Amino acid sequence: MTYDVIILGSGPAGYTAAVYTSRAMLKTLILTGIQEGGQLMTTTEVENFPGSPKGIMGPQLMLDMKAQVERFGTKVIVGAAKSVKSSGKAFSVITDGGIYETRSVIVATGASAMYLGLPSEKTFAGKGVSACATCDGFFFRGKEVVVVGGGDTAMEEATFLTKFATKVTIIHRRDEFRASPIMLERAKKDPKITFRTNKVIEEIVGDTSVTGVRMKDVRTGKLETYPTQGVFLAIGHKPNTEFLRGIVDLDNKGYVPVRGLMNPGDYHTATNVPGIFAAGDCVDFQYRQAVVAAGMGCMAALDVQKWLESVHN
Ligand code: FAD
Ligand code: NAP
Repeated sequence: MTYDVIILGSGPAGYTAAVYTSRAMLKTLILTGIQEGGQLMTTTEVENFPGSPKGIMGPQLMLDMKAQVERFGTKVIVGAAKSVKSSGKAFSVITDGGIYETRSVIVATGASAMYLGLPSEKTFAGKGVSACATCDGFFFRGKEVVVVGGGDTAMEEATFLTKFATKVTIIHRRDEFRASPIMLERAKKDPKITFRTNKVIEEIVGDTSVTGVRMKDVRTGKLETYPTQGVFLAIGHKPNTEFLRGIVDLDNKGYVPVRGLMNPGDYHTATNVPGIFAAGDCVDFQYRQAVVAAGMGCMAALDVQKWLESVHN
C-alpha cells in the first residue's frame, strides 16, 4: 500500500498536519517517533494554546489531538523513521518495524532536550539527573533539587518541582533570563525557589546517586560544591533531524530550512527535496510554541495537497 502522505512525528505539528490531510481524504500515516505526543507530554498545564480558557494539561491536549486525527482516518503507528529514500515519484520510509511507501512526507520530528555534555550526567542518569520534571518530579518528594537554565522551561520545571521538593535552586549561567516575564516573576515569587546566577556546572557529584553539583562562578572563577539530590536540565532542545542528514538539507544546527513566506504562491513548507515538507520545532528555532508548530503543520498539509495535485494528476 502506498500512502499519500507519511507524517514523521506526533507533536502539535504532526497531528495538525494529519487533521488537514485526512480531512482532505489523503491516505495518511503518522509515525509517532519514540515520544508519542511530543514535547507537551513532558509538561503540566498549557495556558497559551487557544481554546482552553482554563488551561489544559499537556498530555491531555496531545491525547485529544490524537483522537481527532484518528476520527478522520489517519493511521497512527508507533515507530521512528531511520531513513527516507526517494524512488522516482514515491518515497520509502524505513523504520525498525518495516518500510512504508508514500507519495509525500511531512517532517514534524520536533526537538529533544539538550544535556550539558558532562560524563557525570550519564553516570547519574536515572539516579538524580533528569530532563523532565513532569516525568521524574515525584521521585524528589522531600528533597532539594537544582534546575539548570534560564528560559521558560527552567521556570516552569522549577515551579512544578516545588510541589515535591523542599527547595528548588535555579542555576543559570548569566544574570539575564530568556524566560518570559510572567514565568520568571512566578518563579521569583515562589518562596521555595532560589536563584544562583552567573554559575556554570562543572561536574555532578555523588556516590550511588547525586549528592551535589560542583559549580563555577563565571565572573570570579570561584568553585563551590552545592549540595542537591536532583539535577534537572532545562537548557533547551535540539532538532531531531540527524536521520535526515544527506537526504534533506539541514542548517549547521540541524534545523530543516524551508522556503518560507517570501514568494507568494510558493510551497512555504517545502524542503529542498520535492515532495518532502517540514513543520514545527524541527524547522522553527525562533518561536518554538505549540500553536506555531500546529500552524506550520496546517501549512505543510495544505502544501502537500497542492503538490500532490500538481505532480500526480
Ligand atoms: P514535538 O512536540 O517535539 O514532537 C516531535 C515528534 O516527532 C515527537 O512525537 C517525536 O516522537 C517525533 N519524532 C522524533 N524523531 C522522529 C523520527 N525519526 N521518526 C518519527 N517521529 C519522530 N509551547 C507552548 O506553546 N506552550 C507551552 O505551555 C509549552 N510548554 C512547554 C513545556 C516544556 C517542558 C517544553 C519542553 C516545551 C514546551 N512548549 C510549550 C514548546 C512546545 O512543546 C513545542 O513548541 C511543540 O511541542 C513543538 O511541536 P512539534 O510538533 O514541532 O514537535
Ligand atoms: P531556551 O529559551 O532556549 O532557554 C535555554 C536556557 O538554557 C537559556 O537560558 C540558556 O542560557 C541555557 N543554556 C543553554 N545551553 C546551556 C549550557 N550548555 N549550559 C548552561 N545553560 C545553558 O529553551 P527553553 O526554555 O526550553 O524554551 C524553548 C521554547 O519553548 C521557548 O520558545 C519557550 O518560550 C517555549 N516554552 C514555553 C513555555 C510556556 O509558554 N509555558 C514553557 C516552556 C517552554 P542563555 O540564556 O545564556 O543562552
